[in-house]
Amino acid sequence: MEFLRPTTWAEALAAKADQPDAVPIQGGTDVMVEINFSVRRPPALLDLTAVPELATWSLDGGRYRIGAAVPYSTIIGELGGALPGLAQAARTVGSPQIRNRGSVGGNLGAASPAGDSHPPLLAAGAAVEVESRGRGVRMIPADAFYLGVKRSALLPDELIRAVHVEPAAGPQYFSKVGTRNAMVIAVCSFAVALHPDERRVGTGLGSAAPTPRRAREAEEFLAAELDWSAPLQPALLARFGELCAGAAAPIDDVRGTAGYRRHAIAVLARRTLTWAWHDHLERRAA
Ligand SMILES: Cc1cc2nc3c(=O)[nH]c(=O)nc-3n(C[C@H](O)[C@H](O)[C@H](O)COP(=O)(O)OP(=O)(O)OC[C@H]3O[C@@H](n4cnc5c(N)ncnc54)[C@H](O)[C@@H]3O)c2cc1C
Repeated sequence: MEFLRPTTWAEALAAKADQPDAVPIQGGTDVMVEINFSVRRPPALLDLTAVPELATWSLDGGRYRIGAAVPYSTIIGELGGALPGLAQAARTVGSPQIRNRGSVGGNLGAASPAGDSHPPLLAAGAAVEVESRGRGVRMIPADAFYLGVKRSALLPDELIRAVHVEPAAGPQYFSKVGTRNAMVIAVCSFAVALHPDERRVGTGLGSAAPTPRRAREAEEFLAAELDWSAPLQPALLARFGELCAGAAAPIDDVRGTAGYRRHAIAVLARRTLTWAWHDHLERRAA
């Protein structure tokens, strides 16, 4: 197996253009498991750990630009206030070791329906910055990024450079069901992000369909029906849960049945919206 180790972003793009079947490796917490278990044996590994700018984040034009290599531990430690939904999800990933190595870029690269960063990125309306040597930069909205089970809109000669997320305009929550409290792949997960300035609520479902996805009908329902100055009505909350469950297209697998996942999505949707709404009304009253 060839091992490529660029030290600049330009070199990394050149290596990927010259050898599109080279598999990028960042934290290695997905790639090394696959190699060690002989799930894949790529002809070449493209190690991105020596490209320094991938491991940095910045606030550009009112949006956070989080380099593909920024580990979960940095998101938790440095961006928890600005991006609470993503930070909550990051706190549930693996163990401290995995959170120190694993990155949002790697989560996007793997594009697993169970990846924990996807629901908050969808709910917040994030965009993925990808680049190739030949065609330059493309910005892909998160809800156009996931195409199928472990398939994304990333083309063979492209690399993920960063993810762009606006600072939270309102309360955000993430919740995950697992078979235990730590080191667990989500049975299903859900994220909600309130955008009070736009009178809009964003959603993201994880591990409940072939791809992470938004519950669009549920979002439209809330945009039409929510009274942003009043407590949540139980009937509205129940309908929101139903619409979120309706957006799911889950499967039966070792972690849970489709029926359980649909039920759990409704519970998580009601629960996270209730938490967020509580914070929203408290902030209004303050
Ligand atoms: C014990 C354990 C527990 C885990 N728990 C969780 C969990 O709770 N939740 C969760 O979501 N995940 C979990 N994971 C999976 C993994 O940690 C995450 O998916 C993590 O985000 C991967 O990041 P990484 O930097 O290690 O990616 P890598 O393994 O380096 O790469 C992952 C994929 O992304 C591609 N890639 C990496 N960087 C780029 C780039 N810049 N451009 C294009 N493609 C790229 C790689 O080719 C590969 O396909 C766990 C893994 C382990 C081993």
